[in-house]
Amino acid sequence: MELTDKVVSADGINELRARLTGALITPGDGAYDEARQVWNGMVDKHPAAVVRAADDADVSATVRFAAEHELLLAVRGGGHSVAGQGTCDGGIVLDLKAISHVDVDAEAGITRAGGGCLLGDVDRANQAQGRVVPAGVVSHTGAGGLTLGGGVGWLSRRFGLTCDNVAAFRVVLANGEVATASEDENPDLYWGLRGGGGNFGVVTEFSYRSHPFPTEIPVGIAFWPIKDAAAVLRVHAELMPERPNEWKATAFVSRPHKGTGVPPELIGQPCLSILQVWAGEDLAAAEEAYAPLRRAATPAFERLAPMSYIELQTVEDEVAAHGKCNYTKGGYLDRELGEGAIESLLTSAEEILNEESIIEVIPHGGAQLDLADADTAFPDREAAYSFNVYARWPLAEDDERHIAWVRRSFDGLDRHAGAGVYVNFFNPDEGDDGGRVLAAFGRERYDKLAQLKARYDPTNLFSLNPNVKPAATA
Ligand SMILES: Cc1cc2nc3c(=O)[nH]c(=O)nc-3n(C[C@H](O)[C@H](O)[C@H](O)COP(=O)(O)OP(=O)(O)OC[C@H]3O[C@@H](n4cnc5c(N)ncnc54)[C@H](O)[C@@H]3O)c2cc1C
Repeated sequence: MELTDKVVSADGINELRARLTGALITPGDGAYDEARQVWNGMVDKHPAAVVRAADDADVSATVRFAAEHELLLAVRGGGHSVAGQGTCDGGIVLDLKAISHVDVDAEAGITRAGGGCLLGDVDRANQAQGRVVPAGVVSHTGAGGLTLGGGVGWLSRRFGLTCDNVAAFRVVLANGEVATASEDENPDLYWGLRGGGGNFGVVTEFSYRSHPFPTEIPVGIAFWPIKDAAAVLRVHAELMPERPNEWKATAFVSRPHKGTGVPPELIGQPCLSILQVWAGEDLAAAEEAYAPLRRAATPAFERLAPMSYIELQTVEDEVAAHGKCNYTKGGYLDRELGEGAIESLLTSAEEILNEESIIEVIPHGGAQLDLADADTAFPDREAAYSFNVYARWPLAEDDERHIAWVRRSFDGLDRHAGAGVYVNFFNPDEGDDGGRVLAAFGRERYDKLAQLKARYDPTNLFSLNPNVKPAATA
């Protein structure tokens, strides 16, 4: 069944409105322009209606309606898919933002969070009770999309991926029924929802396993001029595999702006920075972990001090604000950060176009390896590093040269990379590119996901995601 070009009549929209508790917004409404927007300013789509679901019943009604009328359905959590998969032209957007309850049961170590929560909602509620769920690094990112695609952040070396920390999902399936997926109930679905993206249903509640966690932890930032970057990165590559799981040090190349602390002569110049987080309270241990990097070359600026965890989780919020144009392309480095990758990184650093664009090199390992590769749908669990080339620019600027820099830089690094891709960082050109989805999951995992898709969503109602096509059924 091809769902993309069906249109819905005004009567049809009224029929859906009558089934809902939450709001339904259409092109004539004053709230429409705000309601149709997603985070990436490059994405400008016009759905026939945006449903602001209030509860599971609204989600079921909308899913059933879209299926009955064979409409394109975009499910939106936080709207941060860089590819813009939280919206569509002509179909229905099912916006979950009103389903944003967070209930922390510290004693049970479980935090229940609505499918439309942002990371900041979950962090604040957990930290108020001295707990944490490992997640991403920008507080206005949706927990929904991030968790379903994997979820990498400052604490993933300590506690694993976000999806590794889900004990149960409450999910509205393609037939509108509500199901639970956990180790005991629908274990096949539980496997697929941990890394398989939004392919199998609409998650209305995540039951996360939470961990006791301090409200302040050691956080450090250091900058080096690009001439010293290779020496520091070589030490970083040697260090990371042997460091404790508490330590995570992500490397960035960028052109730092005023206010980052770098001396005036380095403002706007290509630099290496390393942002490091110690997932515990031990400042001395953090200093010891970091010391070899500062010995490799003297930083132009450095600071390592306790910082509020909630503040750490918002430091990138402003640079990653809604409405800018964004384009990203990334992959995994399977074994190491070798000489070839370092050289490509530094070439691209020299060509960075503005102070908002970056390339990040993120170390993995640690508790991510506590689960086996086959335990969840998330691929590339064993990769040593991932990288993202990330361009941001104002709406008024021409897209082409920024996109060209991303592609060129990616091509340079990709020569040293493994085959995988992180589905949560697809760009607008990759959103519906089946080849990238296959590259992300690999043949064997893709085929297993396709079987699961055939069971739970045989008509591919949930198609706006890293889309797995349902396997042909007998
Ligand atoms: C500024 C920024 C920072 C980021 N930082 C990180 C990071 O630190 N770590 C990391 O791992 N990733 C990160 N990402 C990538 C992020 O994980 C993805 O963009 C993710 O898809 C965002 O989820 P969302 O709910 O906000 O997006 P949306 O655009 O709303 O949704 C993305 C996809 O998930 C599906 N989806 C969302 N919620 C649900 C739900 N409840 N049920 C079913 N399907 C759902 C949607 O249908 C869509 O296919 C970041 C992205 C941005 C833009």
